[in-house]
Amino acid sequence: MPELGPDTEVRFVKGVGERRAKALAEAGIRRVSDLLLRLPYRYEDRSAGRPAQAVRDGESASVEVVVESLRVRPTRRRNLKIVELRARDDTGPVRATWFNQRHLKQVLRPGRRIVLFGAAKVAYPGAPPEFSNPKYELVTGPPPPRLDPPTGDEPPRTETADSGGAPDSLPDPLPDPLPDPLHVGRIVPIYERLGEIHPRQFRRILHDLVESGAGAEPGCLPEELVTRLGLPSREEALREVHFPEPDAELASLAGRRSPGHRRLILEEFFSFALGLLLRRREDRTGRAGGGSFPVSDAVRDLFRKVVPFRLTGSQRDTLRTIAREFAGPLPMRRLLQGDVGSGKTIVAVVAALIVIDNGAQAALMAPTEVLAEQHFATIRRLLEPHRIRVALLTSGLSAADRRATLTAAASGWAQFVIGTHSLIQEGAEFRNLGFAVVDEQHRFGVEQRQLLVERGAGCDLLVMTATPIPRTLTMALHGDLDLSELTELPPGRQPIETIVRGFAELDSVHDLARSEVRRGRQAFYVCPFIEDSEAVDGSGVERRFAELAEGPFRGLRLDLVHGRVPAAQRDRVMTAFAAGEVDVLVATTVIEVGVDIPNATVMVVENAERFGLAQLHQLRGRVGRGRFPSTAALVHGGELTESAKRRLEVLEKTADGFRIAEEDLAIRGPGDFFGARQHGVPPFRVADLERDAEFLRQARREAQRFLDSGAEEREEGQRILAEVRGAWGDRFGLTKGG
Ligand code: ADP
Ligand code: MG
Repeated sequence: MPELGPDTEVRFVKGVGERRAKALAEAGIRRVSDLLLRLPYRYEDRSAGRPAQAVRDGESASVEVVVESLRVRPTRRRNLKIVELRARDDTGPVRATWFNQRHLKQVLRPGRRIVLFGAAKVAYPGAPPEFSNPKYELVTGPPPPRLDPPTGDEPPRTETADSGGAPDSLPDPLPDPLPDPLHVGRIVPIYERLGEIHPRQFRRILHDLVESGAGAEPGCLPEELVTRLGLPSREEALREVHFPEPDAELASLAGRRSPGHRRLILEEFFSFALGLLLRRREDRTGRAGGGSFPVSDAVRDLFRKVVPFRLTGSQRDTLRTIAREFAGPLPMRRLLQGDVGSGKTIVAVVAALIVIDNGAQAALMAPTEVLAEQHFATIRRLLEPHRIRVALLTSGLSAADRRATLTAAASGWAQFVIGTHSLIQEGAEFRNLGFAVVDEQHRFGVEQRQLLVERGAGCDLLVMTATPIPRTLTMALHGDLDLSELTELPPGRQPIETIVRGFAELDSVHDLARSEVRRGRQAFYVCPFIEDSEAVDGSGVERRFAELAEGPFRGLRLDLVHGRVPAAQRDRVMTAFAAGEVDVLVATTVIEVGVDIPNATVMVVENAERFGLAQLHQLRGRVGRGRFPSTAALVHGGELTESAKRRLEVLEKTADGFRIAEEDLAIRGPGDFFGARQHGVPPFRVADLERDAEFLRQARREAQRFLDSGAEEREEGQRILAEVRGAWGDRFGLTKGG
């Protein structure tokens, strides 16, 4: 058996073996370090004994009692026997029952002192507490006072010997037949069940592992920091969070604020923050040729001609910041966050003008073809009159058009290339890409944005997101980026009224849409499903389309888009809608992102309870983009779950995307916030982005301080940085070594 280290495979750990190793692997636990960081999800205080009389109905309690009698009672079911215990302490009697554990007859003899632990029932005030299938432990030592006078002051000891036989049958999950001080008489860690490994077995495995000293690694917090903050060592921390001392505070353990928890949380965030800083430093190697993109008078003139409106204060602030960075020697890495409709596109366009004016190319990547085409149309309209060459690259292009764009980009003829994922596929090359913009970043992964900037040596990067996300999540997802925010909407925007209605009130919603169309406005009509069969109540978008066309919207110009409509046709429909040739667009969420149609004033969402908060907010943001007042009608099915109710209420009450995002995080938790894997929420094992937000900020400060203190020159620093590269290198695309 190899010496256990953090990287040792779990199958070599005592008590694991090949079969359990498989179950562990399925839960993502492969190495000793994974195992050690699988912390209890809660703790049970099985140490504090209570007087029998003080046990309240329904509580989990432990009592120390002396056995009076035990009898095995048959039941009508042939192989079901009930073991009944009568016992008492000096305050009164206690009862307990177990099923099918006849061996208890040998263990719990009259006169024995035992501790019982479990949920108790008290039938009426003053009745003896009754425990059903409690855990128990044998106690030796002086008997309790009044029953038997004390014979000495030796403290009670727990008996660790195996004094029970196997139970008659093995119900699942296994009961606690063995008196084992690991499982009672202390604050007991409760682990999640992992496949067929019972929490109790897991507890035993971890106990042996922690005792073996496998956690005795220095970890990746610098010694100086550990001392300054008075944190325990990694080994102490692991021991404490898995097997707390008897005097540990249950509340701080439960709240993950015990010293051990604090150390492990900070350590995980510190390592992550260091990874981000390394990523950032590797990005900051200077533009190709050490150049910069200063703002010329010519380009200043051009802005005035190109921008068709007065910029908002925060648009201007953001552009000033961007211009300052363009003028410096290091490439920009910036996140532009702004609610739907806050006007991010024009910021990207003006920034691109500066770069183009300096002779480099700009590229903008959007998540969908519809959006790329819309950007292309907008940007071409703004820039082509000023003889700036704009090109479009999507997979929907004909082979000939595609070749033409690829050549235009590679030769440098195209100055601004707008596209989809096609921009980062094989064959897409630039002569001199100086500025990459990623729109709706939340639809892309970190790797994809990295692929785009890598098309230009020392390329500047602006990523934009309309889905506001809570600050802690911003830092976790984009901590290697600087943040700009558009905090105001352009003037003259009409507020969007949000109404929540049941299906029974659908007629009034249809009336509203019809009357808006009569005034020359347009409406979106969103259904969550394509086919009827997917819908629990409500119906699929195709049937709905037919029903609406025949019924409430008869005589209006209707069209339909969803994910299975071929891309080319989808684009035709969207273009027709944008041109005002369609009154009501019936759709699934394919229209969710970015589409800008100022004349649309009604957004109906059927089965709104099926959507997440962020998604509904995005959908709602498709209207209210022009000078007309708009309405979002969220129509829900019959019974609402609590969380669906809360989501709809939040939307009804607030239009503030950031508040919505905070609420969303609170309702769903970070793992689920965007769908973790797709959108790259880091897989933290101990830390929790919401609960431990303050630790992330602290970790970031400390990581910066650590690097600034010349960590690389010290042996400890080199070791820690190597560990960080090992842990986060793949995710952040860090160079090996360093
Ligand atoms: P988003 O931030 O959601 O991407 P867009 O960039 O699509 O928003 O802008 C939404 C709409 O607001 C567009 O029609 C755009 O032309 C318009 N807009 C942007 N900035 C301003 C402004 N300062 N004044 C007036 N309209 C603006
Ligand atoms: Mg946009």
